[in-house]
Amino acid sequence: MATPEQQRTPNDRSTRPSEIASSSSSSSRSWVWEYYSKDTNPIFALCSLCRTKVNRGKDMSTGPLMRHLQRKHDRVYRQHLSAKALLRLSQSSSMHTTITDSTGDSAISSTLTLDPFFINCPSFDDCLLKWMISSYQPLRIVEDPYFRRMCQSLNKKAPIISRDKIKALLAERFQLTVELTKNILKGQHFSFTTDGWTSLANIGYVTCTAHFIDRTTWKLHSFVMGLYEKDGGSRHEDIVDYCETQLSFFNLPYSHAVAVVTDTENTMVAAGRLFVQHSAEANGSTKWLGCIDHLLQLVTKKAFSGMFFVYCFFIYLCTL
Ligand SMILES: [Zn+2]
Repeated sequence: MATPEQQRTPNDRSTRPSEIASSSSSSSRSWVWEYYSKDTNPIFALCSLCRTKVNRGKDMSTGPLMRHLQRKHDRVYRQHLSAKALLRLSQSSSMHTTITDSTGDSAISSTLTLDPFFINCPSFDDCLLKWMISSYQPLRIVEDPYFRRMCQSLNKKAPIISRDKIKALLAERFQLTVELTKNILKGQHFSFTTDGWTSLANIGYVTCTAHFIDRTTWKLHSFVMGLYEKDGGSRHEDIVDYCETQLSFFNLPYSHAVAVVTDTENTMVAAGRLFVQHSAEANGSTKWLGCIDHLLQLVTKKAFSGMFFVYCFFIYLCTL
């Protein structure tokens, strides 16, 4: 959860003078201070990574310090997000264990836990993020005056969130989702599919999806591991390179990869062969499978391409 300092934004009307006065002492608790030392002028903080003096702004919040780390020291910022996501995951799993233990015996659970009586009120930040992600909203929506008005129509004290704040929340959510996905995929046998294509604007994209069957429910799950703009070539080696980067990012080894499925276009067939070769080199036994849908499409296309000539020939015969 973000600290009050992190939540405060330039547009935050809820910032009170008393908070501003105390921000100096409370901000020293923020994680960002691991990478900063205080300057003689309290408005500035000295970055210990690049020795830059960062202006903390008139309310001396940690927001500018965090933004500096985000923009100039992305690795450090990502590490922080990853550690935070892991902590959140471990907290939620220990909470789950407690609940499971307490509900292990139904007679005891009714006396030991009050969980059934609580109605969890979702946090505004969480709901806003989920809505933005699921409906592909642009970041600027949070600064739209009509959107803010709508939020305040529901509750006059509704938080006013800036674009920078939502960007930081989105980065946190991304890291949390990555760690959660890694946890789910850990130890699973999986197959993966990949393909590349070119948009109308002539920009190349490539994607890779992992599939696995849950051992307890026998349900098939699919995770899109990423959709990226191609910055390199479009050879089969490039496709394999891209997928292997994704697989290693999610800690998915070849030894657990049962199969790779691609369409039967020449580049993808060559990529399939290379996947199989790399898997064998890593002591895996991944098989390549050509997508049956794509194959059927090609067969149908071929079959129907002759129909026009058959039809013309039929018309010609009728006119004789
Ligand atoms: Zn720096």
